[in-house]
Amino acid sequence: MLIAEGLVKRYGPCRALDGFDLTVPAGEIVGLIGHNGAGKTTFVEIVAGLVRPDAGRISIATLDARLARRAARRFLGVAPQELGLYGTATVRENVRLFAGLAGLRGRRRDVEIAQVLEELRLTAVADRRVGALSGGQRRRVQAATALVGSPPLLLLDEPTAGADPETRSALLSAVRARAEAGTAVVYTTHYLPELVDLDATLALARGGRIIARGTQEELTRHLPGELRVTFADPAEPELRRPTTDPGADLAALLASGRTPVSVDVRRPGLDDLYRSMEIAATEAGTEVRDAA
Ligand code: ATP
Repeated sequence: MLIAEGLVKRYGPCRALDGFDLTVPAGEIVGLIGHNGAGKTTFVEIVAGLVRPDAGRISIATLDARLARRAARRFLGVAPQELGLYGTATVRENVRLFAGLAGLRGRRRDVEIAQVLEELRLTAVADRRVGALSGGQRRRVQAATALVGSPPLLLLDEPTAGADPETRSALLSAVRARAEAGTAVVYTTHYLPELVDLDATLALARGGRIIARGTQEELTRHLPGELRVTFADPAEPELRRPTTDPGADLAALLASGRTPVSVDVRRPGLDDLYRSMEIAATEAGTEVRDAA
């Protein structure tokens, strides 16, 4: 659905994107993660046609986005990081505007607007001015403008930033339902448990490029988990140790003659993956990547 190849974007001496490749098939939610400044928003802005890349190529569905910028709007829904809504217009008017841009007209447009407002639990505030809504409600309106018309590609840039649990849950349900119906989703967030909830595959961005891509299981299985053992011995009641082979480590412990009261193995998760990126970045000295 989305193929981005070799994207480069420079801002003066800073290479925001530096050979960024990402493919997102239909029906897949890709969690695009990485530290502040890794290039995630720049990528979203380029795919959305808001920023022009210095090099590289994007295809959305069968369209070449460079040739068909206007037509591409029908294929993609965008919820940018910075809210872009009309504060003096109502929720319904904001969503209607984006429905029009997505090519919806007449009765079909009204039906789709009503559906998306319901999906994001906005029906009760549909005729209120956006400027009078809470931050979480505005986040939901922003998501509604992206989802209306059911575009086959969704770009959601930190859509739950600052959202309360109800807003978060409404958004995640809506995103899951869209992916199940075949929508390709690029989802950036710093809140990693959301990606577990969404069962997203992952793309790890660093220094303006994707350094790892795969399922959560593929990207975490080589990382150490944690072996936690408790003992009756009051001098050392608990032992915690990173492990990639809990069976062997436990066997070695038992062979040393100590008798555990309980044994628990914590499997590596996304937090560990994020931490491993941090370590790798620090070791490689790639945190600062201005070309100057
Ligand atoms: P965050 O997690 O903080 O949202 P990000 O991964 O989305 O970060 P980007 O916003 O894409 O990162 O920024 C990538 C780099 O490009 C940063 O070093 C940033 O300062 C720089 N950059 C982005 N937009 C501009 C701009 N309009 N002008 C100058 N530099 C920019």
